[in-house]
Amino acid sequence: MTALDAVIAEVAACTACDRVLHSHVLGAGNGDPTARVMFVGEAPGRLGAGRTGIPFYGDESGRRFEAFLALAGLSRSEVFVTNTILCNPLDAKSNNRRPLTSEIRRCLPFLRAQVEAVDPVVVVALGDVALTALGLVKAHETSLRNGCGLPRPWFGRTLVPLYHPGRQSTLHRPDAAQRADWQRLGEYLRGERQSSISKVTPMPLSGAAGVRQAMK
Ligand code: URA
Repeated sequence: MTALDAVIAEVAACTACDRVLHSHVLGAGNGDPTARVMFVGEAPGRLGAGRTGIPFYGDESGRRFEAFLALAGLSRSEVFVTNTILCNPLDAKSNNRRPLTSEIRRCLPFLRAQVEAVDPVVVVALGDVALTALGLVKAHETSLRNGCGLPRPWFGRTLVPLYHPGRQSTLHRPDAAQRADWQRLGEYLRGERQSSISKVTPMPLSGAAGVRQAMK
């Protein structure tokens, strides 16, 4: 059993919160368990992940997320997607609501365990709820207002804050600006990947320099 499998099993058995639909959205549908890039959203939505069992899938936020992913040049199969809380928070009328601080705190050990198990190079916080929760896993000083799209060191890796893909976030950051954020994320990830490849695979030297290098 992998470390992530252990987290999945623990999450599946969790009933700690009572004002949620226990959808426990963590499993094969979250993507590549060894991904270099992890996305953290807010919570499964009633019509999306809460219904399909796949984060950001089946509702409008999901469609917007997939369009943004494509702008960054990424596919779901190469990333890991999760949420700050793993069950669907519902209000008295069974509509989606923002996760409570108590729910975020209860799910925090699972969030931390996912980051440690997947061990991504880059974690992308999608919105304020995710960014704040990741700050409880390991403190950071960034914010959406000052740090949107700006990579910074965090917890032995890199944290990138982005706005939540849900349409509501366009009230705070227009769609065109968000599209540009995701394109810049793609550029950053391609550059980061290139520099990590050249760190582990030195360019082969040819001629006499290559012979000297090989004899070292
Ligand atoms: N769907 C998710 O999985 N997460 C969100 O934050 C919103 C919709």
